Amino acid sequence: MTDSTNPETIALHAGWRADPTTGSVAVPIHQTTSFQFQDTGHAQRLFGLAEMGNIYTRIMNPTVDVLEKRVAALEGGVAALAVGSGQAATTFCVLNLCEAGDNIVSSTDLYGGTWNLFANTLKSFGIEVRFVDPANPQAFADATDDRTRCWYAETLPNPKLQVFPIAEVAALGRKLGVPLIMDNTAAPVLCKPLALGAAIVMHSTTKWIGGHGTSIGGVVVDGGNFDWEGNAARFPTLNKPDASYHGAVWTQAVKAMGPVAYIIRMRVILLRDFGAPMAPMNAFLTLQGLETLPLRMERHCANAIKVAAHLAGHPAVASVTHPSLMTGESKRRADAALKGGYGSLMGFELKAGAEAGRKFIESLKMFYHVANIGDARSLAIHPATTTHSQLSAEEQAASGVSPGYVRLSIGIEHIDDIIADLDQALAAAAA
Ligand code: PLP
Repeated sequence: MTDSTNPETIALHAGWRADPTTGSVAVPIHQTTSFQFQDTGHAQRLFGLAEMGNIYTRIMNPTVDVLEKRVAALEGGVAALAVGSGQAATTFCVLNLCEAGDNIVSSTDLYGGTWNLFANTLKSFGIEVRFVDPANPQAFADATDDRTRCWYAETLPNPKLQVFPIAEVAALGRKLGVPLIMDNTAAPVLCKPLALGAAIVMHSTTKWIGGHGTSIGGVVVDGGNFDWEGNAARFPTLNKPDASYHGAVWTQAVKAMGPVAYIIRMRVILLRDFGAPMAPMNAFLTLQGLETLPLRMERHCANAIKVAAHLAGHPAVASVTHPSLMTGESKRRADAALKGGYGSLMGFELKAGAEAGRKFIESLKMFYHVANIGDARSLAIHPATTTHSQLSAEEQAASGVSPGYVRLSIGIEHIDDIIADLDQALAAAAA
């Protein structure tokens, strides 16, 4: 356990000291579906939320609990919920506030999977997502009406890598009583959205937090800093009696536990009903990644700045996208939200176009060609034919994916080896 606010210490110590019965320092993997009750009264108290404790691993698990506490501490939130994937985390963030007929306002600059969820799947459930240009914070307010339940954006969205104006948009939202939910997947440690005014943060832990490409997962952190009760009409899921839980009104029912109504409702309703828990083994593996996350982020960012500068000076490269190379308002926004680095995602366009881009990827020897980001290893992909292929040509263009764009996720290998692999693939692509 720790009271430290330093990420290096939180990543190793928050939420856990040692196992009280065995002394185990590593967090044990509680690979169990269910937990023995002490007696019938104990079982009744747990089910009635009069006492918090373990019932069934779909809803909570002690290994997952340590990960939740640790990510909550890292983000400066009050509590967290880990789920089976980043997609489940995003889905739950919205469904925790929205019913059919409601809407949310979202930035257009999103991961392709989130775009599909928002533009198509949620629509089929009667939830409208209104997309606005993140370059204009006021657009969020302009698209809001009394059925708008939240605003949603990514801190460092690829491929454009234009850092989202978190503080400006969160402040506008707070004036209207609308919470900002941030996907902080690409900027853990670097960005603290809750401190900038966001109400909720989510991560795909599959990426930098896990960091080793072993486990799919997601986590939602409740900032405990939003007044869900003061504007009760905007948040019916938290303020009207819940027929599925003996008429509980969530903002009242869990008040004694602190400002945790949002995250408790997500656990006891959405996780109960939709499932999608994080498996204990995945929580264990994700914790192993989290322990070295701050150190890895330093190296990821240092390597990325060097790679961006190298590619920008390469004769075969037409353009490079990385916040370290941006100027004007884009740079100001990056510097306002990110501390300690500009992330390890970048993109570039070859002068020779899409076919050369394909050849470049096929010529890489050390970089992996995979649909992932945030691994300790360096990764590359051609988004137009893979991650963004389910988007129409217009949607691809709107999200910043041109046919010749190559995305890199820079790893923590030695910088000389990263640059040598890129250089030999660039030479092969030009041949
Ligand atoms: N958010 C971002 C920014 C992502 O890049 C991804 C996946 O690539 C997700 C969410 C979804 O996460 P997962 O793949 O863990 O479901």
